[in-house]
Amino acid sequence: MSFESLHLIPPILKALKTEGYTEPTPIQEQAIPLILGRRDLIGCAQTGTGKTAAFAIPILQLLHGEAAGDAKRKPVIKSLILTPTRELAIQIGESFAAYGRHTGLRHTVIFGGVSQNSQTDALKAGVDILIATPGRLLDLMNQKFVNLHHIKLFVLDEADRMLDMGFIHDVKKVVAQLPSRRQTLLFSATMPREIAELAQTILIDPVQVAV
Ligand code: AMP
Repeated sequence: MSFESLHLIPPILKALKTEGYTEPTPIQEQAIPLILGRRDLIGCAQTGTGKTAAFAIPILQLLHGEAAGDAKRKPVIKSLILTPTRELAIQIGESFAAYGRHTGLRHTVIFGGVSQNSQTDALKAGVDILIATPGRLLDLMNQKFVNLHHIKLFVLDEADRMLDMGFIHDVKKVVAQLPSRRQTLLFSATMPREIAELAQTILIDPVQVAV
């Protein structure tokens, strides 16, 4: 199996080559076609399986298709990735930077524990993709620095860890602000009852992939 056979676009194939990726991991092989087919998805996968690329690559491809011919636009947030920790947020940001380097799409990362100024500057300049931890996101939403009305793709990453860290209430508050017409991807290493129940309320007719 090659990345070419997943029908990825040239700007992404070129970036994957630069990364030295020769073939998709099992979660990527399963998830990428489903996400490109605009399905909601539950991915049961741990860190280390390549799950970040499994959602970042198709998100970049879907958004790149929509942004075509609109290079002078000020971007609005079309994809939100919620992740529990600052470290994961930074890693996901690095992945979008790497795989998206030839797409022209812009992203930024927001998390707590640091001054919000550089984060709000990036948001004011406009981004296509926002990677966030729940607390800082709610904070910046309340201050009207973040508008989620144009979200087409929402990712809940490490949902079980969100639960363990006590963030589920914050996650639900964020989800309540998202458009109901959207594509939702939920990743979790384990599927405790609370997460299975949350999945039922935030995903529509999801396909489940497990590795
Ligand atoms: P993740 O599970 O998303 O934390 O990814 C684990 C590591 O695998 C990261 O360092 C990625 O850069 C790397 N990786 C992801 N996909 C591939 C691939 N298809 N080929 C080689 N390395 C990969």
